[in-house]
Amino acid sequence: MTSRPPAAAARGTGSFPRRGPGRRAVIATTAALLLPALARPLAARAIAAASLAEEEGGVRLALVVGEPVGFRLFTLDNPPRVVIDLEGAPWRAGTPPPGLGPVRRIRAALNRPGVTRVVLDLEVPVAVRRAAMDASGTTLVVEIAPAPRAVFLGQAAASEAEARAEPPRPPRLPLVVLDPGHGGRDPGAIGASGTQEKRIALAAALELRRVLEGEGRCRVALTRTRDVFVPLAERVRFAQSRNAALFLSIHADALDDASVRGASVYTLAERASDPLAERVARNENRADRFAGPAFEGVTPEVARILIALVRRETLNGSARMARHAVASLRQSVVMLPNSHRFAGFVVLKAPDVPSVLVEMGFLSSRADEALLRQAAHRRKLAVAMAEAVHRYLDEASPVLTAG
Ligand SMILES: [Zn+2]
Repeated sequence: MTSRPPAAAARGTGSFPRRGPGRRAVIATTAALLLPALARPLAARAIAAASLAEEEGGVRLALVVGEPVGFRLFTLDNPPRVVIDLEGAPWRAGTPPPGLGPVRRIRAALNRPGVTRVVLDLEVPVAVRRAAMDASGTTLVVEIAPAPRAVFLGQAAASEAEARAEPPRPPRLPLVVLDPGHGGRDPGAIGASGTQEKRIALAAALELRRVLEGEGRCRVALTRTRDVFVPLAERVRFAQSRNAALFLSIHADALDDASVRGASVYTLAERASDPLAERVARNENRADRFAGPAFEGVTPEVARILIALVRRETLNGSARMARHAVASLRQSVVMLPNSHRFAGFVVLKAPDVPSVLVEMGFLSSRADEALLRQAAHRRKLAVAMAEAVHRYLDEASPVLTAG
């Protein structure tokens, strides 16, 4: 073992001794807008606020993460900077606070799946005095102060040695959340010969999971794996709290017109693209009438705010996935004309997870119902949807890097 300068790379908690409490003046705080319906799961797993304050002879960075979080801190030279990698805590603190003292500016970005990188670009070399969760376990505190260049370089060299010593962990595969529609006391649509949508949706989702897991290019989670009722907002939160790369809701609706048949793909829009899409959305959204008074619902007002919050890239991602789904499904099954439609589905309202709803066919059509009852047909659908998922993930924008 070679000896290492006292202030080197820090891991976990409490690697640096803390000096006196000093004078603190919070000069800049940014906080994410957290809607009541979403506040808890997001706050528990994200960097919800960031502040940079003067501290005796230096500055103190506070990252509010809600719960203890794994992190790695190291320094880099040319140009000098302090880098903090946080695990499983996406940045939701808006614009980082402006620079102060030795810190010229702060940047934050997704470094690789599941890791947020916060970079402090420095005006002058610094020593890291402290990098640890605070006593409450909710905030990561990093204290730095100007230091001779030799001290800073010692830290940087130690960081580099540590980085070399540690083989990089394989990146985590992106997570695809499959959402079999309905369930439990909500049967969904019921076909002419009595087929329940909830059973078809679950069977198809389980088949899709088998296909996706067989290929091993993504992780898969289901919002339900049994015949249970799950409120719509809960399905959205399930995907959000796991930082899903994609949310795929699987259905087989019924319409008044038994002659309408074929698969179709839906993405979120404030206004429905056509009356049929609106009818489909109304049917699917009605699932929440089974939820009972305890359901923590999304009011129309919150729903409107949520739609406004849907980021452009999320919508772009959803539209891209929808195009792939239509293109793949078209190769193997009958499609509804204008197969990609838009409407206000509650389950598609995650502001940060690209979301698509697939109607595999209509149970009101005897032809579709007969097909959807067949495992071989569901297999065909699953293979087509898996192909679309892979195409989507292959071209999904690579993670941003900073540092
Ligand atoms: Zn449905």
